[in-house]
Amino acid sequence: MYPAQFDYRRAGSVDEALGLLQEHEDAKLMAGGHSLIPMMKLRLAQPPVVIDIGRLDELKGISEAGGSVRVGSLTTHADIAASDVLAAHCPVLAEAAGHIGDAQVRNRGTIGGNIAHADPGSDIPPVLVLLGASVHLQSPSGTRSVAAGDFFQDLLMTDVGEDEILTHVEAPALGAGTGAAYLKFEHPASGYAVVGAAASVTVQNGRCIAAGLVVGGVSATPTAVDVSSLVGSDLSDDAIAAAASGLDAEDPIGDIFASGDYRVHVGKVYGKRALAAARDRAS
Ligand SMILES: Cc1cc2nc3c(=O)[nH]c(=O)nc-3n(C[C@H](O)[C@H](O)[C@H](O)COP(=O)(O)OP(=O)(O)OC[C@H]3O[C@@H](n4cnc5c(N)ncnc54)[C@H](O)[C@@H]3O)c2cc1C
Repeated sequence: MYPAQFDYRRAGSVDEALGLLQEHEDAKLMAGGHSLIPMMKLRLAQPPVVIDIGRLDELKGISEAGGSVRVGSLTTHADIAASDVLAAHCPVLAEAAGHIGDAQVRNRGTIGGNIAHADPGSDIPPVLVLLGASVHLQSPSGTRSVAAGDFFQDLLMTDVGEDEILTHVEAPALGAGTGAAYLKFEHPASGYAVVGAAASVTVQNGRCIAAGLVVGGVSATPTAVDVSSLVGSDLSDDAIAAAASGLDAEDPIGDIFASGDYRVHVGKVYGKRALAAARDRAS
């Protein structure tokens, strides 16, 4: 499969990339190219101009400050999975990145490209929604941030405007007494998540004081599950199973491999397991 004809431009800075976006209507940014190039080869995307931002060091890197972690949009999944900063302050994000594809995909694919592409089977989106992360965007008119829960709008649709570049994501560091986990039921051929469950619990004096569960792969966008019944509980297996069974999706997505109903069922099972793993890490 060959893509339609396109022009290739390489940006030397974020400002230059923003200028090129303004100059060329319907141009597409390219980070690692692991989603854009397959889309172009299938002719599902036919941008007249591809703007390569893959070498912009200003968009790479991971840091922690003031109780938040910051990950540049061009940071690769491999760097996120191996990050000491994330291991110390937000290990669930590193855990999810380590589950992505294979070594080649993790070495080239970036967090910005992953969430801008917004495949419902991506591993990063449910984790960012669980964490209450923010997504930061830059355009010629300035910068803005969006809550991850509002960023994912529909199948392959996000809040990134045509003149915007995603610069970084920020997430609160996990505090003392909080455990979090990401578990994935992956497609045997593609490795993408059929269902992925991200969970967190915070425990104080043997009781749960906060809990969250977000499931990917069930709907077009990450599905938050109401697990508030766990607050005040001792996080018994029964309490966790009851909370995870609250997963509901009005219009679950289905395909030849997994029907919508099946995805919801697996989502409950993986939600339960992710909550139990989070509990075990919290204590
Ligand atoms: C074989 C294979 C297996 C995979 N398995 C998994 C998996 O198991 N789990 C998973 O989560 N993902 C998986 N992926 C996808 C992978 O995670 C990609 O990294 C990701 O989808 C896209 O990242 P990228 O950097 O390659 O983005 P690109 O392909 O370069 O871009 C993707 C989209 O994002 C836009 N974009 C990129 N960067 C920016 C930016 N900074 N600002 C605004 N827009 C931007 C582009 O314009 C494009 O529309 C797989 C991919 C392949 C090819």
